Amino acid sequence: MEKTPFKAESKRMLEMMIHSIYSNREIFLRELISNASDAIDKMYYKALSDPSLDFDKANYYIKVTADKANRTLTICDTGIGMTKEELENNLGVIAQSGSLAFKNENEVKDGHEIIGQFGVGFYASFMVADVVTVISRAFGSETAYQWESSGVDGYTIVPAEKEDVGTEIVLKIKESTEDDHYDDYLDEYRLRSIIKKYSDFIRYPIKMDVTAQRPKEGSEEEFEEYQEEQTINSMVPIWRKNKNELTDEDYENFYMEKRFGFDKPLKHLHISVDGAVRYNAILYIPEKTPFDYYTKEYEKGLELYSNGVLIMSKCPDLLPDYYSFVKGMVDSEDLSLNISREILQQDKQLQLIAKNIKSKITSQLQRMIQDDRAHYEQFYEAFGTQLKYGVYSDYGSNKDTLQDLLMFYSSKEKKMVTLAEYVARMPEAQKYIYYASGETYERIEKLPQTELVLDKGYEILYFIDDVDEFAIKMLMTYKDKEFRSVSSGDLGIEASENEENAESDANENQALFDEMKQLLADKVKDVRVSKRLKNHPVCLTADGEITIEMEKVLKAMPN
Ligand code: ADP
Ligand code: MG
Repeated sequence: MEKTPFKAESKRMLEMMIHSIYSNREIFLRELISNASDAIDKMYYKALSDPSLDFDKANYYIKVTADKANRTLTICDTGIGMTKEELENNLGVIAQSGSLAFKNENEVKDGHEIIGQFGVGFYASFMVADVVTVISRAFGSETAYQWESSGVDGYTIVPAEKEDVGTEIVLKIKESTEDDHYDDYLDEYRLRSIIKKYSDFIRYPIKMDVTAQRPKEGSEEEFEEYQEEQTINSMVPIWRKNKNELTDEDYENFYMEKRFGFDKPLKHLHISVDGAVRYNAILYIPEKTPFDYYTKEYEKGLELYSNGVLIMSKCPDLLPDYYSFVKGMVDSEDLSLNISREILQQDKQLQLIAKNIKSKITSQLQRMIQDDRAHYEQFYEAFGTQLKYGVYSDYGSNKDTLQDLLMFYSSKEKKMVTLAEYVARMPEAQKYIYYASGETYERIEKLPQTELVLDKGYEILYFIDDVDEFAIKMLMTYKDKEFRSVSSGDLGIEASENEENAESDANENQALFDEMKQLLADKVKDVRVSKRLKNHPVCLTADGEITIEMEKVLKAMPN
């Protein structure tokens, strides 16, 4: 039989494709299933414009069958099929997309739902198969044709038998080697998980014969295995549904199904934006800090879908670092994808979406502070440190976003308060926002340096997180009020009778102070009478920008 060679460019393209375009081999199945879904969509669109056709959804499905003995994987669809010419043009010429042409010719209004556009996805099958056989019967045609190719050296097309309209693609899966486990693509469990991962929201059923168990007849203890046809994908993307139709439980189930975490989500956010940028998203704030959250191993990111097909499992560009705890997914029709349908780095749309998502998360958190304080505090307990790092990093350029989300433990309320709450109840005479650092709240409470401030009736924020003081140093002020450590030299508090006595005390005891200073020469800069103590005999104060607590943290840091 004569082989038609691929066109020269195609030949080079094909080699490139097989060896380098995709970073992940398993996506061949995503590509074939997407094509099958497109083929069914085309039937659907045909029926829309031709009233004599009746599109009965029940007749349209995709079936994946693995045959371990023969090392074949078959993907079969009941879609529109291909004529001999279409087989030649669409599969024989690389980078020719019949689907793109269909979209253009048919002026399908919601044609964006057709996935194909580049005309290369099909060839991904050569990453895992030695031979690819396509048997197809086009809608309206009596004859079927078989296209076959083993890669770069071309393809053959011969007439074939096929009872129903549609396409069947048979992959002869490569032999496994020590490094390449092609056998995976014949394994029922593995196939299921690949389908779930990439194609869960394809709108037509993807069926597989899976091994199930049932009690053996006449026995109550013994079980036997049998094959049962199951639909693997969930089909309807939850994010396309109306919020009003969905319950908290639906969102929780989606969180679990997607394995966003092993906990429950604390809050979910369902976003549908239809403006300059169009996208749907479901985002979650987890309940618990992931065990690796504050390590280098933790990867931030959201799942990214284009038309319901997974493009990236963790797209980091969608989230700022300070919201790296957010889990979830984004689906958009507007992304400009590169040829491997892995997203382009500098995508304008993606940046717009990221910006939009950021502000949605911020307002969600702000709403929680107002309406759902208990949950916010739980959230803050888990991820507050990350917000403070957010203020600290980027030279504080995130501070407008983040300052209203911060909370600190307060001496007055004995609970977490926001800066806005603190400032709102500051007495008029109070100049600064006071804070004290220490290892625990109990220890801070006993600090002699707090006495004077508390005595004045002023509130003190207790900092026990290493990053606290660094973060507020970045903020510098909140609503024009400066932050001031209780151990700083100048507390901005009016002189009291303490002060009047201080001078004479100093004169009387100068000899004692000189002696002390000499003894502590390498530990302190000066020893002097304090104006701030009441019940404590002595305290340390800091001179300059860095407080004693900050010094401790800096010393503990690796150089
Ligand atoms: P794309 O999907 O981006 O167009 P592919 O290489 O995946 O590129 O497929 C090339 C073309 O082959 C498709 O556009 C379509 O016209 C045709 N095709 C592929 N698979 C099928 C199928 N299962 N049924 C009908 N046509 C198909
Ligand atoms: Mg395709």
